[in-house]
Amino acid sequence: MNSPDDRLYPADWQLGVRYSGIYSFMGLPVSRDLSRADVAIVGVPFDTGVNHRPGARFGPRGIRLGTSQIRPHGPSGGLWGPFEHLRVLDYGDLNIPPQYIDYGVEQIRSGFEPIFDAGVIPIALGGDHTISLPILRACHPKHGPVSLVHFDAHPDFWKPTEGRPYHHGTVFRIAADEGLISLRNSIQVGIRGTISAMVVDEAREAGLNLLTSDQFYDLGVERTLDLLRQTVDGPIYVSLDIDSVDPAFAPGTGTPEVAGLTSREIVALVRGLKGLPIVGFDIVEVSPPYDQSEITCLLAASLVYEFLEVLASNAET
Ligand code: MN
Ligand code: MN
Repeated sequence: MNSPDDRLYPADWQLGVRYSGIYSFMGLPVSRDLSRADVAIVGVPFDTGVNHRPGARFGPRGIRLGTSQIRPHGPSGGLWGPFEHLRVLDYGDLNIPPQYIDYGVEQIRSGFEPIFDAGVIPIALGGDHTISLPILRACHPKHGPVSLVHFDAHPDFWKPTEGRPYHHGTVFRIAADEGLISLRNSIQVGIRGTISAMVVDEAREAGLNLLTSDQFYDLGVERTLDLLRQTVDGPIYVSLDIDSVDPAFAPGTGTPEVAGLTSREIVALVRGLKGLPIVGFDIVEVSPPYDQSEITCLLAASLVYEFLEVLASNAET
């Protein structure tokens, strides 16, 4: 940001209610002028890759609606919080037809390419977890192999089927095979459940640093963050599957697993990313049709806001 005149602000909360009008994230300007942005919030309404409950295609809209009571008075201070330090725009949604997964995956890659090229940090609102693979493909020419920080109940490390590789469970196996992520500098937190049990050993043998939900409980937030900092190296991509959080706090998702993180713990983990060289972030698997009282959408919206605080504190220093 060069001068205060470059700043982009969310809508003034004193001039009208946030649940009316065209619904951008926190009422931020909707624009694709990347020359005016440090961060672009991009909706990816795509759930063609789910194995169980669909609905994440409505995630971007749900997360934006979840911002109606989030005001920019965070830890970064001042009247406008993170927006004093970062120019953030709502890029709108990518237009992805749901019928053809190969085509959809390529549309997502080509949609994110200009954002990385412009040196802008994307925040992707998913969408099912399939979207992370094409985003990492778009990231690679600019940043090379990245360290992945991955919060999830599932490793998403299943071996792809020959000729039909794409779904939300294969993304990080393919990303590793394509050299998009450095496995030894990547970490997964929150893994649990009977589905994951089938692939945990395989993921570890491949070199992934994987903390199960039980291991996270033994370590606690601070020691988990210490381990995370020791693991990562170079540019970092953060992928947050909302099913890392317990279904008591995040029921609106496609593949819920009990005994997960609390909303307080995931907020603390995101806050702990301050100071790290982050080049992209996604929040995925929010499925509003399965939500209750909008609590999942509110949590997801709040986590994106917390992430903006992380980026703002990085921009300050
Ligand atoms: Mn996932
Ligand atoms: Mn998951």
